[in-house]
Amino acid sequence: MIRLSFLGGTREVGRSATLIDTETEKILIDYGIKISVKPTQYPKNVKAKLDGVLLSHGHLDHSGAIPVLFHQGQKCPVHGMEITRSLSRMILFDSYKIGRYEGEKERYSKTDINKTLRNFKPMKYRKPFNIGKTTVTAFDAGHIPGSAIYLLETQNKRILYTSDFNTSDTRLINGADTDIPQVDVLITESTYAQREHPDRQKQEKGMIEAIEGALANEGIALVACFAIARTQEVLSILDEYNLQEKIYIDGMARKATRIINEHPELQREYNQVNRAMQRLKVKPITNHSMRKKILKEPCIIITTSGMLTGGPIAYYIEKLWDRKECSLSLTGFQVPGTEGAVLLETGHYIHGDLDLPIKMSVRKFDFSSHTSRSELFKFVKKVNPERVFCVHGDNTEGFAEELSKEGFDAVAPKLGENFSIE
Ligand SMILES: [Zn+2]
Ligand SMILES: [Zn+2]
Repeated sequence: MIRLSFLGGTREVGRSATLIDTETEKILIDYGIKISVKPTQYPKNVKAKLDGVLLSHGHLDHSGAIPVLFHQGQKCPVHGMEITRSLSRMILFDSYKIGRYEGEKERYSKTDINKTLRNFKPMKYRKPFNIGKTTVTAFDAGHIPGSAIYLLETQNKRILYTSDFNTSDTRLINGADTDIPQVDVLITESTYAQREHPDRQKQEKGMIEAIEGALANEGIALVACFAIARTQEVLSILDEYNLQEKIYIDGMARKATRIINEHPELQREYNQVNRAMQRLKVKPITNHSMRKKILKEPCIIITTSGMLTGGPIAYYIEKLWDRKECSLSLTGFQVPGTEGAVLLETGHYIHGDLDLPIKMSVRKFDFSSHTSRSELFKFVKKVNPERVFCVHGDNTEGFAEELSKEGFDAVAPKLGENFSIE
């Protein structure tokens, strides 16, 4: 009998964590945190001694709580792609720093982050490996560079964990592997189960228009991006449209780009980001005096954070907020309650003690890296599972209900719920 325990990321987006007990092995897939609420939320505790952690990709909602495991004395390997280790190093230390700054309760130390990184066991796509008697194969999830869909084969059962995945190509990476066998159990993300994406090309054109509009009026075009994948997606778009303006990249967006450039084979075209940066002559901002200097003439600034919650974008907005010839492009989903979402609703940038009625032109674009509704349904039908568990979404129950109507045995587990697979 196999036992599934849903420890986090069930009827929500954030703190993803699923424990699979095969009787012979205890394998944890993802152990993330939820940072869109304060204080940060963690998944349920893992009481068992683990044989391995499978990390799907380098986003905090999947990796952020792994150091807690080592703080509690776990000693198992953490499996993931090499790039996921590099991205985890960047975001785990950053998350630790922010936690200290915000006075959050300390659940782990820097030593535990180092233990996480030291225990990392790099793997490759489509090269099976074993954790005890369980065979694990990672497929390309097409979500961000290094993202993985995990297939576990154990006790004559096949369990597929999609984590965040995207079946469509983006400018930066190819869509998810589709050559995946049929399975008995599917644990699927549900982020876009109720929504289709708008036409991608129109979104790209919209962003280029917003940028060019600002530059034509001698303004500055700010582009707020998530550091990992979105920044490099935007760089690839700017390259495609052959923009000839001064382009700067700042904050964690710069660090993440450096890491992604170390893995040219994971890009849709080998080394495309590096080449785009050379063609566009993108300049990194490395200190505060540079930051001040570049605001003296028209340019494009790509920086973090993507939801305007902090990072250099906050500085730039504070300097440019009342200049209506400037533009601010938001390039990702804005979680309700974040500065970005509040700005879209009210026109005000409310950050710390600041409340600025923004005069720059503000627009939001959808460059999502999650599978759309129709593709999600297609994927489920293709792998044809006997049981489906819908996780990672705002309406996982609705998705499970729809799948049930289509004849699948589908549920949206609750936080902490356990299921047996006979
Ligand atoms: Zn993700
Ligand atoms: Zn996620």
